[in-house]
Amino acid sequence: MKLYSTNNQSLKVDFATAVFNSMPLDKGLYMPVHIPELDKEFIDHIDQFTLSQIAFKVAAVLLKDAIPLEDLQAIIDDAINFEAPVVSLDENTAVLELFHGPSLAFKDFGARFMSRIMAYFLKDNEKTLDVLVATSGDTGGAVALGFLGVPHTRVTILYPKGKVSEIQELQLCTNGQNIHAVEIDGTFDDCQALVKQAFADEELNARLRLTSANSINISRLIPQTFYYFNAYAQLKRQGKEEVVFSVPSGNFGNIAAGLLAYKMGLPIKQFIAATNVNDTVPRFLETGVYETKPSVQTYSNAMDVGAPSNWVRIMDLFKNDKEALQQILQSYRFTDEETLSGINAIYEQFNYITCPHTAIAWLALQKYRAEHPDDNYTGIFLSTAHACKFPDVFPETIKANIEFPDQVKDLLAKPKKAQKMNTDYESFKKYLTTFY
Ligand SMILES: *Cc1c(COP(=O)(O)O)cnc(C)c1O
Repeated sequence: MKLYSTNNQSLKVDFATAVFNSMPLDKGLYMPVHIPELDKEFIDHIDQFTLSQIAFKVAAVLLKDAIPLEDLQAIIDDAINFEAPVVSLDENTAVLELFHGPSLAFKDFGARFMSRIMAYFLKDNEKTLDVLVATSGDTGGAVALGFLGVPHTRVTILYPKGKVSEIQELQLCTNGQNIHAVEIDGTFDDCQALVKQAFADEELNARLRLTSANSINISRLIPQTFYYFNAYAQLKRQGKEEVVFSVPSGNFGNIAAGLLAYKMGLPIKQFIAATNVNDTVPRFLETGVYETKPSVQTYSNAMDVGAPSNWVRIMDLFKNDKEALQQILQSYRFTDEETLSGINAIYEQFNYITCPHTAIAWLALQKYRAEHPDDNYTGIFLSTAHACKFPDVFPETIKANIEFPDQVKDLLAKPKKAQKMNTDYESFKKYLTTFY
Protein backbone atom coordinates (compact mmCIF):
# COMPACT_ATOMS: atom_id res chain seq x y z
CA MET A 1 0.00 0.00 0.00
CA LYS A 2 1.32 3.40 -0.98
CA LEU A 3 0.05 6.46 0.84
CA TYR A 4 0.00 10.12 -0.08
CA SER A 5 -0.26 13.24 2.00
CA THR A 6 -3.63 14.95 1.80
CA ASN A 7 -1.65 18.17 1.32
CA ASN A 8 0.48 16.82 -1.52
CA GLN A 9 -0.65 13.84 -3.54
CA SER A 10 2.69 13.50 -5.31
CA LEU A 11 4.45 12.78 -2.02
CA LYS A 12 4.14 9.01 -1.72
CA VAL A 13 5.45 6.79 1.07
CA ASP A 14 5.20 3.13 1.97
CA PHE A 15 3.14 1.82 4.88
CA ALA A 16 6.03 1.46 7.37
CA THR A 17 7.09 5.07 6.81
CA ALA A 18 3.55 6.32 7.34
CA VAL A 19 3.30 4.28 10.55
CA PHE A 20 6.48 5.66 12.11
CA ASN A 21 5.97 9.25 10.95
CA SER A 22 2.27 9.39 11.92
CA MET A 23 2.01 12.69 10.03
CA PRO A 24 3.75 13.92 6.86
CA LEU A 25 6.04 16.93 7.32
CA ASP A 26 3.58 19.09 5.36
CA LYS A 27 1.05 18.46 8.19
CA GLY A 28 -1.42 16.67 5.91
CA LEU A 29 -2.59 13.16 6.75
CA TYR A 30 -1.56 9.93 5.08
CA MET A 31 -4.22 8.31 2.90
CA PRO A 32 -4.04 5.23 0.69
CA VAL A 33 -3.34 6.21 -2.93
CA HIS A 34 -5.73 3.49 -4.01
CA ILE A 35 -8.69 2.28 -1.95
CA PRO A 36 -9.22 -1.38 -2.78
CA GLU A 37 -12.67 -2.94 -2.83
CA LEU A 38 -13.46 -6.26 -1.24
CA ASP A 39 -14.84 -8.75 -3.67
CA LYS A 40 -18.60 -8.96 -3.82
CA GLU A 41 -18.54 -12.70 -3.22
CA PHE A 42 -16.98 -12.05 0.20
CA ILE A 43 -19.45 -9.30 1.16
CA ASP A 44 -22.38 -11.49 0.04
CA HIS A 45 -21.22 -14.28 2.36
CA ILE A 46 -19.69 -12.18 5.11
CA ASP A 47 -22.14 -13.67 7.63
CA GLN A 48 -20.19 -16.94 7.41
CA PHE A 49 -16.99 -15.43 8.78
CA THR A 50 -15.70 -14.68 12.30
CA LEU A 51 -14.33 -11.31 13.43
CA SER A 52 -10.78 -12.61 13.09
CA GLN A 53 -11.40 -13.90 9.55
CA ILE A 54 -13.10 -10.68 8.53
CA ALA A 55 -10.30 -8.59 10.01
CA PHE A 56 -7.76 -10.61 8.05
CA LYS A 57 -9.66 -10.28 4.76
CA VAL A 58 -10.03 -6.53 5.15
CA ALA A 59 -6.45 -5.95 6.29
CA ALA A 60 -5.09 -8.17 3.52
CA VAL A 61 -6.61 -6.16 0.65
CA LEU A 62 -5.00 -3.04 2.09
CA LEU A 63 -1.66 -4.41 3.29
CA LYS A 64 -0.84 -7.47 1.18
CA ASP A 65 2.20 -5.84 -0.41
CA ALA A 66 3.42 -4.40 2.92
CA ILE A 67 3.29 -7.48 5.19
CA PRO A 68 3.42 -11.18 4.24
CA LEU A 69 -0.01 -12.70 4.82
CA GLU A 70 1.02 -15.21 7.51
CA ASP A 71 2.61 -12.40 9.49
CA LEU A 72 -0.47 -10.24 9.05
CA GLN A 73 -2.66 -13.08 10.31
CA ALA A 74 -0.47 -13.47 13.41
CA ILE A 75 -0.59 -9.71 14.11
CA ILE A 76 -4.37 -9.71 13.83
CA ASP A 77 -4.82 -12.76 16.04
CA ASP A 78 -2.66 -11.20 18.71
CA ALA A 79 -4.15 -7.69 18.47
CA ILE A 80 -7.87 -8.43 18.06
CA ASN A 81 -8.28 -10.96 20.86
CA PHE A 82 -11.65 -9.76 22.14
CA GLU A 83 -15.17 -9.58 20.73
CA ALA A 84 -17.26 -6.74 19.31
CA PRO A 85 -20.84 -7.97 19.75
CA VAL A 86 -23.93 -6.33 18.34
CA VAL A 87 -26.52 -6.40 21.13
CA SER A 88 -30.17 -5.98 20.11
CA LEU A 89 -32.21 -3.59 22.22
CA ASP A 90 -35.44 -3.79 20.26
CA GLU A 91 -36.72 -4.85 16.84
CA ASN A 92 -34.74 -2.26 14.90
CA THR A 93 -32.19 -0.84 17.35
CA ALA A 94 -28.91 -2.41 18.39
CA VAL A 95 -25.72 -1.34 20.11
CA LEU A 96 -22.27 -2.31 18.85
CA GLU A 97 -20.23 -2.87 22.01
CA LEU A 98 -16.63 -1.87 21.39
CA PHE A 99 -15.54 -1.90 25.03
CA HIS A 100 -14.50 -5.51 25.54
CA GLY A 101 -10.78 -4.90 25.10
CA PRO A 102 -8.24 -4.36 27.90
CA SER A 103 -8.84 -0.62 28.37
CA LEU A 104 -12.63 -0.90 27.97
CA ALA A 105 -12.79 1.49 25.03
CA PHE A 106 -12.87 1.15 21.24
CA LYS A 107 -9.39 2.71 21.11
CA ASP A 108 -8.06 -0.78 21.98
CA PHE A 109 -8.61 -1.83 18.36
CA GLY A 110 -6.36 0.91 17.06
CA ALA A 111 -3.76 0.89 19.82
CA ARG A 112 -3.25 -2.88 19.93
CA PHE A 113 -2.93 -3.17 16.16
CA MET A 114 -0.61 -0.16 15.93
CA SER A 115 1.71 -1.43 18.68
CA ARG A 116 2.12 -4.79 16.98
CA ILE A 117 2.63 -3.22 13.55
CA MET A 118 5.33 -0.95 14.97
CA ALA A 119 7.05 -3.83 16.74
CA TYR A 120 6.86 -5.87 13.53
CA PHE A 121 8.69 -3.22 11.50
CA LEU A 122 11.36 -2.64 14.15
CA LYS A 123 14.54 -4.53 13.49
CA ASP A 124 16.22 -6.32 16.39
CA ASN A 125 19.33 -4.16 16.42
CA GLU A 126 17.47 -0.86 16.18
CA LYS A 127 17.08 1.66 18.97
CA THR A 128 14.16 1.16 21.33
CA LEU A 129 11.09 2.94 20.06
CA ASP A 130 10.05 5.67 22.50
CA VAL A 131 6.34 6.36 22.34
CA LEU A 132 5.22 9.64 23.90
CA VAL A 133 1.53 10.27 24.56
CA ALA A 134 -0.42 13.02 26.25
CA THR A 135 -3.85 11.87 27.35
CA SER A 136 -7.03 13.35 28.73
CA GLY A 137 -8.32 9.85 29.46
CA ASP A 138 -9.04 7.02 27.04
CA THR A 139 -6.12 7.28 24.64
CA GLY A 140 -3.54 6.78 27.36
CA GLY A 141 -5.11 3.59 28.71
CA ALA A 142 -5.47 2.03 25.27
CA VAL A 143 -1.90 2.90 24.31
CA ALA A 144 -0.48 1.75 27.67
CA LEU A 145 -2.27 -1.58 27.56
CA GLY A 146 -1.69 -1.90 23.81
CA PHE A 147 2.09 -1.59 24.13
CA LEU A 148 2.44 -3.42 27.45
CA GLY A 149 5.17 -6.02 27.03
CA VAL A 150 5.68 -5.28 23.31
CA PRO A 151 9.42 -5.79 22.68
CA HIS A 152 11.74 -2.90 21.75
CA THR A 153 9.22 -0.28 22.82
CA ARG A 154 8.97 2.07 25.79
CA VAL A 155 5.92 4.21 26.43
CA THR A 156 5.71 7.43 28.43
CA ILE A 157 2.24 8.72 29.15
CA LEU A 158 1.56 12.20 30.47
CA TYR A 159 -1.76 12.87 32.14
CA PRO A 160 -3.16 15.88 33.99
CA LYS A 161 -3.35 15.48 37.75
CA GLY A 162 -6.89 15.09 39.07
CA LYS A 163 -8.46 15.31 35.62
CA VAL A 164 -8.86 11.67 34.63
CA SER A 165 -11.25 9.19 36.24
CA GLU A 166 -10.02 6.69 38.84
CA ILE A 167 -10.19 3.74 36.48
CA GLN A 168 -8.50 5.66 33.72
CA GLU A 169 -5.69 6.58 36.11
CA LEU A 170 -5.27 2.98 37.26
CA GLN A 171 -5.02 1.87 33.64
CA LEU A 172 -2.09 4.24 33.20
CA CYS A 173 -0.29 3.68 36.50
CA THR A 174 -0.44 -0.04 37.29
CA ASN A 175 1.37 -1.57 34.34
CA GLY A 176 5.08 -1.52 35.13
CA GLN A 177 7.33 -3.18 32.50
CA ASN A 178 7.81 -0.83 29.52
CA ILE A 179 5.01 1.58 30.48
CA HIS A 180 5.76 4.78 32.43
CA ALA A 181 3.11 7.15 33.70
CA VAL A 182 3.86 10.81 34.43
CA GLU A 183 1.37 12.83 36.44
CA ILE A 184 1.62 16.48 35.41
CA ASP A 185 0.55 19.19 37.79
CA GLY A 186 -1.32 21.02 35.03
CA THR A 187 -3.93 20.61 32.31
CA PHE A 188 -4.17 18.29 29.31
CA ASP A 189 -2.91 21.16 27.16
CA ASP A 190 0.22 21.35 29.34
CA CYS A 191 0.79 17.62 28.80
CA GLN A 192 0.30 18.07 25.07
CA ALA A 193 2.72 21.02 25.02
CA LEU A 194 5.46 18.98 26.74
CA VAL A 195 5.09 16.16 24.23
CA LYS A 196 5.14 18.61 21.31
CA GLN A 197 8.26 20.27 22.65
CA ALA A 198 9.96 16.88 22.96
CA PHE A 199 9.16 16.07 19.32
CA ALA A 200 10.61 19.41 18.23
CA ASP A 201 13.79 19.02 20.33
CA GLU A 202 16.61 18.09 17.92
CA GLU A 203 19.03 17.06 20.62
CA LEU A 204 16.49 14.74 22.18
CA ASN A 205 15.57 13.27 18.79
CA ALA A 206 19.24 12.50 18.15
CA ARG A 207 19.34 10.49 21.37
CA LEU A 208 15.96 8.78 21.36
CA ARG A 209 13.82 7.32 18.61
CA LEU A 210 10.60 9.14 19.36
CA THR A 211 7.19 8.40 17.95
CA SER A 212 3.69 9.55 18.74
CA ALA A 213 0.74 7.22 19.02
CA ASN A 214 -2.04 9.63 18.30
CA SER A 215 -5.30 8.98 16.55
CA ILE A 216 -4.13 10.14 13.13
CA ASN A 217 -1.75 7.20 12.73
CA ILE A 218 -2.85 5.16 9.72
CA SER A 219 -2.26 1.94 11.65
CA ARG A 220 -4.94 2.98 14.12
CA LEU A 221 -7.44 3.73 11.37
CA ILE A 222 -7.23 0.39 9.54
CA PRO A 223 -8.27 -1.93 12.43
CA GLN A 224 -11.25 0.32 13.16
CA THR A 225 -12.75 -0.73 9.82
CA PHE A 226 -12.89 -4.36 11.04
CA TYR A 227 -15.75 -3.92 13.46
CA TYR A 228 -17.99 -2.20 10.91
CA PHE A 229 -17.68 -5.20 8.59
CA ASN A 230 -18.15 -7.56 11.52
CA ALA A 231 -21.25 -5.70 12.77
CA TYR A 232 -22.76 -5.93 9.31
CA ALA A 233 -22.01 -9.67 9.30
CA GLN A 234 -23.81 -10.10 12.62
CA LEU A 235 -26.90 -8.30 11.32
CA LYS A 236 -26.89 -10.25 8.09
CA ARG A 237 -27.05 -13.41 10.19
CA GLN A 238 -30.32 -12.08 11.58
CA GLY A 239 -31.59 -11.38 8.08
CA LYS A 240 -31.15 -7.62 8.42
CA GLU A 241 -29.25 -5.84 5.69
CA GLU A 242 -30.27 -2.17 5.76
CA VAL A 243 -27.97 -0.59 8.30
CA VAL A 244 -27.53 2.90 9.72
CA PHE A 245 -24.51 3.46 11.97
CA SER A 246 -24.46 6.24 14.56
CA VAL A 247 -20.96 7.05 15.77
CA PRO A 248 -20.00 9.21 18.78
CA SER A 249 -17.38 11.51 17.30
CA GLY A 250 -14.58 13.72 18.57
CA ASN A 251 -11.50 13.55 16.37
CA PHE A 252 -13.58 11.65 13.78
CA GLY A 253 -11.17 8.72 13.51
CA ASN A 254 -13.82 6.14 14.32
CA ILE A 255 -16.30 7.39 11.74
CA ALA A 256 -13.51 7.96 9.18
CA ALA A 257 -12.84 4.22 9.47
CA GLY A 258 -16.54 3.50 8.91
CA LEU A 259 -16.56 5.64 5.80
CA LEU A 260 -13.39 3.91 4.60
CA ALA A 261 -15.17 0.56 5.06
CA TYR A 262 -18.06 1.96 2.99
CA LYS A 263 -15.64 2.99 0.23
CA MET A 264 -14.18 -0.52 0.35
CA GLY A 265 -17.58 -1.94 -0.48
CA LEU A 266 -19.49 -2.33 2.78
CA PRO A 267 -23.15 -1.65 1.89
CA ILE A 268 -24.24 0.88 4.51
CA LYS A 269 -27.36 3.00 4.10
CA GLN A 270 -26.32 5.93 6.27
CA PHE A 271 -23.73 7.16 8.76
CA ILE A 272 -24.55 9.57 11.56
CA ALA A 273 -21.82 11.58 13.27
CA ALA A 274 -23.01 12.32 16.80
CA THR A 275 -21.23 15.11 18.66
CA ASN A 276 -21.53 17.07 21.88
CA VAL A 277 -21.57 20.88 21.74
CA ASN A 278 -18.16 20.78 20.09
CA ASP A 279 -20.07 20.85 16.85
CA THR A 280 -17.67 21.89 14.09
CA VAL A 281 -18.85 19.09 11.78
CA PRO A 282 -22.63 19.36 12.23
CA ARG A 283 -22.31 23.10 11.61
CA PHE A 284 -20.27 22.44 8.49
CA LEU A 285 -22.77 19.94 7.07
CA GLU A 286 -25.56 22.41 7.72
CA THR A 287 -23.96 25.65 6.58
CA GLY A 288 -21.10 24.59 4.31
CA VAL A 289 -18.66 26.63 6.40
CA TYR A 290 -15.89 24.73 8.14
CA GLU A 291 -14.97 26.77 11.17
CA THR A 292 -12.98 25.25 14.05
CA LYS A 293 -13.38 26.53 17.60
CA PRO A 294 -11.54 26.09 20.90
CA SER A 295 -12.97 23.02 22.63
CA VAL A 296 -15.57 23.24 25.38
CA GLN A 297 -15.58 20.81 28.33
CA THR A 298 -18.52 18.39 28.48
CA TYR A 299 -19.60 15.13 30.13
CA SER A 300 -18.49 13.26 27.02
CA ASN A 301 -14.96 14.54 27.39
CA ALA A 302 -13.33 12.16 24.90
CA MET A 303 -15.28 14.11 22.27
CA ASP A 304 -14.28 17.59 23.43
CA VAL A 305 -12.59 18.49 20.17
CA GLY A 306 -13.02 21.79 18.35
CA ALA A 307 -10.79 20.92 15.38
CA PRO A 308 -11.33 17.22 14.56
CA SER A 309 -7.99 15.92 13.35
CA ASN A 310 -9.33 13.20 11.04
CA TRP A 311 -11.82 15.40 9.22
CA VAL A 312 -9.47 15.99 6.27
CA ARG A 313 -9.38 12.22 5.77
CA ILE A 314 -13.14 12.14 5.35
CA MET A 315 -13.08 15.03 2.87
CA ASP A 316 -10.30 13.23 1.02
CA LEU A 317 -12.31 9.99 0.84
CA PHE A 318 -15.06 12.00 -0.87
CA LYS A 319 -12.64 14.00 -3.03
CA ASN A 320 -13.86 17.15 -1.26
CA ASP A 321 -17.32 16.67 -2.77
CA LYS A 322 -19.53 17.97 -0.02
CA GLU A 323 -22.76 16.92 -1.69
CA ALA A 324 -21.62 13.33 -2.11
CA LEU A 325 -20.63 13.31 1.54
CA GLN A 326 -23.98 14.74 2.63
CA GLN A 327 -25.74 11.84 0.92
CA ILE A 328 -24.16 9.34 3.28
CA LEU A 329 -23.38 11.41 6.39
CA GLN A 330 -25.73 13.26 8.73
CA SER A 331 -24.59 14.93 11.89
CA TYR A 332 -26.30 16.08 15.08
CA ARG A 333 -25.05 17.72 18.28
CA PHE A 334 -26.29 17.38 21.87
CA THR A 335 -25.82 19.28 25.11
CA ASP A 336 -24.82 17.81 28.48
CA GLU A 337 -28.40 18.08 29.66
CA GLU A 338 -29.59 16.06 26.67
CA THR A 339 -26.78 13.56 27.26
CA LEU A 340 -28.02 12.95 30.80
CA SER A 341 -31.60 12.54 29.68
CA GLY A 342 -30.35 10.12 27.01
CA ILE A 343 -28.55 8.02 29.64
CA ASN A 344 -31.74 7.96 31.73
CA ALA A 345 -34.01 7.14 28.79
CA ILE A 346 -31.85 4.22 27.61
CA TYR A 347 -31.77 2.88 31.14
CA GLU A 348 -35.53 3.16 31.53
CA GLN A 349 -36.43 1.75 28.12
CA PHE A 350 -33.89 -1.04 27.83
CA ASN A 351 -32.40 -1.48 31.29
CA TYR A 352 -29.06 -0.80 29.61
CA ILE A 353 -26.34 1.57 30.84
CA THR A 354 -24.32 3.57 28.33
CA CYS A 355 -21.34 5.86 28.81
CA PRO A 356 -22.05 9.53 28.00
CA HIS A 357 -20.40 9.29 24.56
CA THR A 358 -22.52 6.29 23.65
CA ALA A 359 -25.70 8.02 24.87
CA ILE A 360 -25.07 10.80 22.36
CA ALA A 361 -24.91 8.27 19.53
CA TRP A 362 -28.26 6.86 20.64
CA LEU A 363 -29.78 10.34 20.79
CA ALA A 364 -28.54 11.02 17.26
CA LEU A 365 -30.11 7.80 16.05
CA GLN A 366 -33.43 8.85 17.62
CA LYS A 367 -33.25 12.18 15.86
CA TYR A 368 -32.47 10.54 12.53
CA ARG A 369 -35.42 8.19 13.00
CA ALA A 370 -37.73 11.11 13.70
CA GLU A 371 -36.63 12.60 10.37
CA HIS A 372 -36.89 9.25 8.51
CA PRO A 373 -39.85 7.52 10.17
CA ASP A 374 -40.91 5.31 7.27
CA ASP A 375 -37.67 3.72 6.21
CA ASN A 376 -37.04 0.16 7.20
CA TYR A 377 -33.56 -0.20 8.63
CA THR A 378 -31.68 -1.32 11.70
CA GLY A 379 -30.05 1.51 13.61
CA ILE A 380 -26.78 0.55 15.26
CA PHE A 381 -25.17 2.98 17.67
CA LEU A 382 -21.55 2.43 18.61
CA SER A 383 -20.70 2.07 22.26
CA THR A 384 -17.19 3.48 22.46
CA ALA A 385 -16.46 2.89 26.16
CA HIS A 386 -17.72 1.07 29.22
CA ALA A 387 -19.78 3.21 31.58
CA CYS A 388 -17.54 2.42 34.57
CA LYS A 389 -14.84 4.70 33.15
CA PHE A 390 -17.01 7.79 33.66
CA PRO A 391 -18.74 7.24 37.02
CA ASP A 392 -19.12 10.92 37.93
CA VAL A 393 -21.61 11.59 35.16
CA PHE A 394 -24.32 9.20 36.36
CA PRO A 395 -27.21 9.77 38.73
CA GLU A 396 -26.73 7.65 41.90
CA THR A 397 -29.46 5.14 41.04
CA ILE A 398 -27.84 4.23 37.74
CA LYS A 399 -24.30 4.46 39.09
CA ALA A 400 -25.08 1.83 41.70
CA ASN A 401 -26.01 -0.60 38.92
CA ILE A 402 -22.88 -0.24 36.82
CA GLU A 403 -21.12 -3.59 36.71
CA PHE A 404 -17.37 -3.76 36.82
CA PRO A 405 -15.77 -6.02 34.21
CA ASP A 406 -12.90 -8.33 35.19
CA GLN A 407 -10.32 -5.96 33.71
CA VAL A 408 -11.28 -3.43 36.39
CA LYS A 409 -11.39 -5.85 39.31
CA ASP A 410 -7.79 -6.79 38.50
CA LEU A 411 -6.73 -3.14 38.39
CA LEU A 412 -8.07 -2.26 41.82
CA ALA A 413 -5.73 -4.78 43.41
CA LYS A 414 -2.55 -3.43 41.82
CA PRO A 415 -0.18 -0.81 43.24
CA LYS A 416 -0.21 2.54 41.46
CA LYS A 417 2.99 4.16 40.29
CA ALA A 418 3.40 7.53 38.57
CA GLN A 419 6.22 10.06 38.38
CA LYS A 420 4.95 13.42 39.60
CA MET A 421 6.14 16.42 37.65
CA ASN A 422 5.33 20.07 37.04
CA THR A 423 5.08 21.62 33.58
CA ASP A 424 8.79 22.42 33.25
CA TYR A 425 10.18 20.98 30.00
CA GLU A 426 13.76 20.52 31.23
CA SER A 427 12.69 18.20 34.03
CA PHE A 428 10.61 16.17 31.60
CA LYS A 429 13.56 15.91 29.22
CA LYS A 430 15.85 14.89 32.04
CA TYR A 431 13.37 12.20 33.03
CA LEU A 432 13.24 10.82 29.48
CA THR A 433 17.00 10.71 29.05
CA THR A 434 18.16 9.49 32.42
CA PHE A 435 15.79 6.93 33.65
CA TYR A 436 17.50 3.84 32.29
C1 LIG B 1 -11.89 8.72 21.63
C2 LIG B 1 -13.31 8.50 22.01
C3 LIG B 1 -14.37 8.99 21.20
C4 LIG B 1 -14.13 9.80 19.97
O1 LIG B 1 -13.61 9.03 18.90
P1 LIG B 1 -12.98 9.74 17.64
O2 LIG B 1 -12.40 8.64 16.82
O3 LIG B 1 -11.94 10.70 18.16
O4 LIG B 1 -14.08 10.46 16.93
C5 LIG B 1 -15.66 8.71 21.57
N1 LIG B 1 -15.93 8.02 22.70
C6 LIG B 1 -14.95 7.56 23.50
C7 LIG B 1 -15.33 6.85 24.74
C8 LIG B 1 -13.62 7.78 23.19
O5 LIG B 1 -12.65 7.32 24.00
